[in-house]
Amino acid sequence: MKRFIFTLALLCIIFCASATEVMSPDKRLAVNIEIQNGKPVYSVTYDKLPVIQNSPLGFLSNEGDFSSDMTFVNAETSTYSDNYTLRQCKVEQVNYTANVLTFKVKNKQSQQINIVFHVSNNDIAFRYELPRINDRSSIRIEKEATGFRFPDSTSTFLTPQSFAMIGWKRSKPSYEEGYGYDDPMTKKSGYGKGYTFPCLFKIRDTQGTLSAWALVSETGVDSRYCGCRLSDCKEGNLYTVEFPMPEENNGNGTVAPAFALPGSTPWRTITIGNSLKPIVETTAPWNTVKEHYPICPELADGKAYGKSTWSWIVWQDASMNWNDQVAFINLAQQLNYKYILIDAGWDQNIGYDKMEELVRLAHSKNVDVFLWWSSSGYWNDIQQSPINCMDNSIIRKEKMRWMKRIGVKGIKVDFWGGDKQETIRLYEELFSDANDNGLMVIVHGCTLPRGWERMYPNYSGSEAVLASENMVFNQNACDEEARATATHPFIRNTVGCMEWGGSFLNRHLGRGNQRGNLRKTTDCHEMAQAVLFQNPIQNFAVTPENLQPFNQGGAPEISIDFMKSVPTTWKKSLFIDGYPGKYVVLARQNADKWYIAGTNAEAESKTLQLDLSEIIEAGQTVTLYCDRKDREPEKTTLKIKNPKKVKLTILHNGGFVIVK
Ligand code: CA
Repeated sequence: MKRFIFTLALLCIIFCASATEVMSPDKRLAVNIEIQNGKPVYSVTYDKLPVIQNSPLGFLSNEGDFSSDMTFVNAETSTYSDNYTLRQCKVEQVNYTANVLTFKVKNKQSQQINIVFHVSNNDIAFRYELPRINDRSSIRIEKEATGFRFPDSTSTFLTPQSFAMIGWKRSKPSYEEGYGYDDPMTKKSGYGKGYTFPCLFKIRDTQGTLSAWALVSETGVDSRYCGCRLSDCKEGNLYTVEFPMPEENNGNGTVAPAFALPGSTPWRTITIGNSLKPIVETTAPWNTVKEHYPICPELADGKAYGKSTWSWIVWQDASMNWNDQVAFINLAQQLNYKYILIDAGWDQNIGYDKMEELVRLAHSKNVDVFLWWSSSGYWNDIQQSPINCMDNSIIRKEKMRWMKRIGVKGIKVDFWGGDKQETIRLYEELFSDANDNGLMVIVHGCTLPRGWERMYPNYSGSEAVLASENMVFNQNACDEEARATATHPFIRNTVGCMEWGGSFLNRHLGRGNQRGNLRKTTDCHEMAQAVLFQNPIQNFAVTPENLQPFNQGGAPEISIDFMKSVPTTWKKSLFIDGYPGKYVVLARQNADKWYIAGTNAEAESKTLQLDLSEIIEAGQTVTLYCDRKDREPEKTTLKIKNPKKVKLTILHNGGFVIVK
């Protein structure tokens, strides 16, 4: 009997010791890690309700299998905190505190790794940390077991990964696909290639009521790994982390990432809450990463961000000539914008020598210049020029020195396509070289940024979205614009700067405002979008025709004045109300001014009762931009009696902005 009790006690110690829980500081979020039949697994609850269930951890590598036949070594807990500043995001000051669990395991060959979990009040971040393995100082990861298994009643808001080597000049994948809304997990992804990050899940309890929202993404991806995606849903509601497709980059480069030991994999993040507030306000992409280099002195004062004109978006390729670029420099001056973005084809239609003159002309009008470059390269068929410069370190550095000499302030580098480690390495080298030359970098036709705002401080935004250009290309994107406005603040834009390139004031999206696809939204919708879509450099779609008198096809003065004054960087951002794809209301603060912006994508007008008490006090008067019945904008003042119950009606495809 004594012996039996002793054995039982010993078993309990072994069992209890290998199932380890770590909770958030507020104790609402809990992560449990254990070994089941030799496999490390984790599960997550929020307010004791299941969010992630029995999901696999570990990986296969060329040095051994770290996903099965694993045994528990020990577990250590600690805390981690970091107070940091972001320059170009939705929030400026972040105080991050997490409880940390280091779960140490070893495989059959007694090779040990650490599975490290950070758990803060609404965010989980985890990764694998690897010591030197025997006498090995390098490792290749062949496949991750890492997965996310959701309860039965979960629905999804996802965008598929596309096939590689399709689309314009075989330049995909470029994270430019549509979203599914509230889809069942059983629905297959569009291409059968899974989904790109971030991935939003809505978890319901068995009665069908909402129990949690969860946003899955990754961060800290640099030259030491590849970008990953989620698989299609597998048996048992499981999504696994997948490496790039072999066909990416025209088949060049490996799929499996490699790094030096000791080393670690990127952080996988899960943001969880029982409303969309923690999703919209998350700082998960930046909490666990560090600056890779200090920002260059030219950009250090934080005053480099701002608005830009951009001829290509409405006037297209034909505008790539001296006179039209001068027209957009003048437009920038008239609107008091900091920049003009000069898009593809300038090297052939204006030329390097004349560009020096054009930059001087811009400077004389207090306007600085961003120049477009192709990233490629040998991996697609892009002909838009300048081409074959930014992928080669010798030519890249020479071009960057030239830009520095003539006073160019930033570059837009387009047509990447691919998440392989060699492509991530090219991003890193480009950012670093640009920083050496005082240049900000915007990337287009590209992957999702993964913590890059903090890691690479001169990084200034990515497209990685089915952006405004599609409204110029096809009417359907105009018809769907309001849905996009009500989608990205909850998903794509919450994990990173997003270069949408919109806020059109043209009714027709063609030069002259007489022809081209028809915009379906109100001006107030476009103004609200300028606040809702966050990017530190905003290449807005305003045109010289917008400055014509109103009765000659120009935009209303109210809209122009708003587009002159709206800021592009934010001290704070708050979720107020909304639902992905239907409507959205956010509040953002710049200096001591608040902008509360809302839009509606639903078929009918929507009357909302908003709680703005965090921002507005009873009796205060605010400025309101809203749609009149004839859908033209109106600027008025509004005295707020009860800030807990502010009633506003938003038209179908309409919007509003409150400025306080
Ligand atoms: Ca694009």
